[in-house]
Amino acid sequence: MKKWFKWLAVFFGLVILFLAAFIVIFFVSHNRFGLIPSGGKLNANQAAFDVGYYELNLKILPDQKSITGSAVIALRPLQTGLTQIELDLVDNFTVHSVHALRPAVTSFSHDDNKLLLSFSDSLPLNQTVAIRVDYSGQPVEAIKPPWVGGFNWSKTKDGQDWIGLSCQGEGAKIWFPCKDHPSDEADSVRLNITVPKNLFCAANGILENVSTADSSWTTFHWMTRYPINNYNINISIGPYWEAESLYLTDSGTEMPVIFYHLPQSADKAAAHLSMAVDMLKTYRKFYGEYPFPKEKFGLVETDYLGMEHQTLNAYGNFFRYDTVNGQAYDWLMLHEMGHEWWGNQLTGADWADLWLHEGICTYGEALYMQEKGGTEAYHNHVLNFAKSISNKKPVLPHRPASSTEVYQRDIYFKGAYLMHSLRFMLGDSLFYTFLKDFATNPQYIMPNFAETEDFLNLLEKYGTKDVQEFCNLFLTGTSLPRFNITSISTGQYGFSVDYNGLHLPVEIRHDGQTDRLMLGPQPVVIQSQNEPEVDPQHWYLTADYLKSIHKK
Ligand SMILES: [Zn+2]
Repeated sequence: MKKWFKWLAVFFGLVILFLAAFIVIFFVSHNRFGLIPSGGKLNANQAAFDVGYYELNLKILPDQKSITGSAVIALRPLQTGLTQIELDLVDNFTVHSVHALRPAVTSFSHDDNKLLLSFSDSLPLNQTVAIRVDYSGQPVEAIKPPWVGGFNWSKTKDGQDWIGLSCQGEGAKIWFPCKDHPSDEADSVRLNITVPKNLFCAANGILENVSTADSSWTTFHWMTRYPINNYNINISIGPYWEAESLYLTDSGTEMPVIFYHLPQSADKAAAHLSMAVDMLKTYRKFYGEYPFPKEKFGLVETDYLGMEHQTLNAYGNFFRYDTVNGQAYDWLMLHEMGHEWWGNQLTGADWADLWLHEGICTYGEALYMQEKGGTEAYHNHVLNFAKSISNKKPVLPHRPASSTEVYQRDIYFKGAYLMHSLRFMLGDSLFYTFLKDFATNPQYIMPNFAETEDFLNLLEKYGTKDVQEFCNLFLTGTSLPRFNITSISTGQYGFSVDYNGLHLPVEIRHDGQTDRLMLGPQPVVIQSQNEPEVDPQHWYLTADYLKSIHKK
């Protein structure tokens, strides 16, 4: 081969390699959510049973980046004649054996991230069947946690193992056999996790016992007795120290607020915890009591930004506080804590409903700003929502949908903006009652699930048909309301709103006063010395407003 040809080949090889790397980085870092999608259409076999309980008995082997042990799944058949059960489990793992009593498991196959079990007889209708799966292997590793999640086999600065786990987009199948669908939560979960003896394993619920089988390993026995979605089942492992504070519920019960932090964060833990207690009290005002008072509010220091793991929020924001009205707050803790209500207590039945978690939770941050910094702080925060909205795709996609199909920034910020508009349309008093009603109504919260349809139906009690339809349009499309203002004659102006013929309350500021008018497609005429301003506080996201913000 000629020399120049060789160099040319090397050059093009490098170009191709560079392009490939660029594409991979771009793909992973933009809009990617979930390496292997979670949820989607529930197949007939999985719809035929309900999971009641998971128990994980796992040994964590940091040096091998692997886990080994067993999972017990207790489920209840909802149909007669069920002789096969399909669970989700990534192919990374080797399944050694599967056992069940009455009927017995006769065979199993593990392929394409599915674990298919066959039984000797039909499973008894409505009776609990416990299945034990013995397995081991290397769980999926996180690429860009928490968005592209998995296990993080990290080290602390002084070289100790620091293991994180996040799998919202992928589902728990990346580390144990489960039914990976948002519409089925276990009613309780037991986690018996064995780790090298110098490490602490934090998890959901209550730490019931710590045992040492030999001198090298410690087992942490955790139990949660609240319904929990599968991605929230969490273990976080490190040389953690524990800092604790107390939260007093409305009914006078004391609940621990615990922060599992690295030793080097010890001097920051107390202030961080008192901030957490204050945030819990602020949220309680708007959403009702903290949903898991019999267990704890927990925080664990992680080497990824954060995740709303139930009673064990992941915290990786390095204590970088912002301020509102001179008072420090941690935006990440504020956001993840809000999910204890929006996502954990009230859970979307499908990934399509994810805006109920993210949009309402994000809006709650603005309510916190209002509490701490007043109206101006509230509106400044809402302005930040608007800056982050792209409005390219509807917030609510087709259903059922997988985690990957749903995820985009607008589920946070356009969802939050909807709540802002709704507040104006209903007025403060009705809006706050609606918000608390939705957050605490047994029909929608654990052990039940909520759909966007429930949100719209509940609104019927609080607002007009047009308010309901506004929310529906805003969520399911990308069209935005438009305000028209025309000068009719000197000192006379006509106003109308263009949004599918809806009638909406709108503020008009003129001659030093602000009026609230009901506007529809037909112009309403008002007298004014100067040209009035329509919706000066931007309670609505209009196309013109969005354009003007993005230009800045
Ligand atoms: Zn969130």
